[in-house]
Amino acid sequence: MTIPTPRQRLTLFDLPLDVVTLDETLDRLGDWISNQPRAPHTVVTLNPEFIVQSRNQPDFVNAMQVADLITADGVGIVWAARQLTNTEVPRAPGFDIVQGLMGRHGADLRVFFLGAKPGVAEIAAQNAARDYGIQVAGIHHGYFDLPEDQRVAELVRGSGADLLLTAMGAGRQETFNQYWRQVMNVPVMIGCGGVIDVLAGNADLAPAWTRRMGVEWIWRVGLDRKRWNRAPRLAQFVRMVRAEKKRTAK
Ligand code: UDP
Repeated sequence: MTIPTPRQRLTLFDLPLDVVTLDETLDRLGDWISNQPRAPHTVVTLNPEFIVQSRNQPDFVNAMQVADLITADGVGIVWAARQLTNTEVPRAPGFDIVQGLMGRHGADLRVFFLGAKPGVAEIAAQNAARDYGIQVAGIHHGYFDLPEDQRVAELVRGSGADLLLTAMGAGRQETFNQYWRQVMNVPVMIGCGGVIDVLAGNADLAPAWTRRMGVEWIWRVGLDRKRWNRAPRLAQFVRMVRAEKKRTAK
């Protein structure tokens, strides 16, 4: 039985943000995985791009508002929480959560890998099974259209996974997890961006020093051409936070 721990939840713009460390996050997700009967939970790792991108995507906003746990993925959110709520929020990044769960639960964990280009999730699953000893509950790429969502959700349900890694890009992964949560009924469903690519060895994890300092986005934006067009979004985020701070100070 899980003893509920008191926890602090902030509001950042119109989104919740849980004040939880990585360890507390892993404890809580571990409880959800072991609880009987199994019940579905969604996890969101919030980053500045989500906040900017979701302004004109009500279903993305809703998926974040109703998430069971929403953590600060990086330093941008930590900074914004400091500016707007005067609170020091610990970081619990998506990759660290996934790696932490696999490390803690190993062979007891059945993982479904959903996302990335065809063939990539297979390699990610093989590597994760080799490195952490986890069981592979299922695999599916992330390039399918909405009419196929139900088929994929039912595949996930049938797999009996404990952990669903949904890596299909910001917004799509969170709304998919939320919309199909009851059907999939996986104890922990987490939207985790490029994690399947990293596990497959297709994308480099940012170097340890940037991760320690919480500035891995500098690395990602700087090195990945595809991400250059995203830098304006980060600037927009800074402007949004400044405007909000001014507004609430009045
Ligand atoms: N992805 C996917 N389906 C899509 C779009 C993206 O599976 O329709 C995968 C993509 O292959 C990558 C991951 O989602 O493995 C993250 O993609 P990207 O970095 O473009 O998205 P972001 O999370 O930065 O929005």
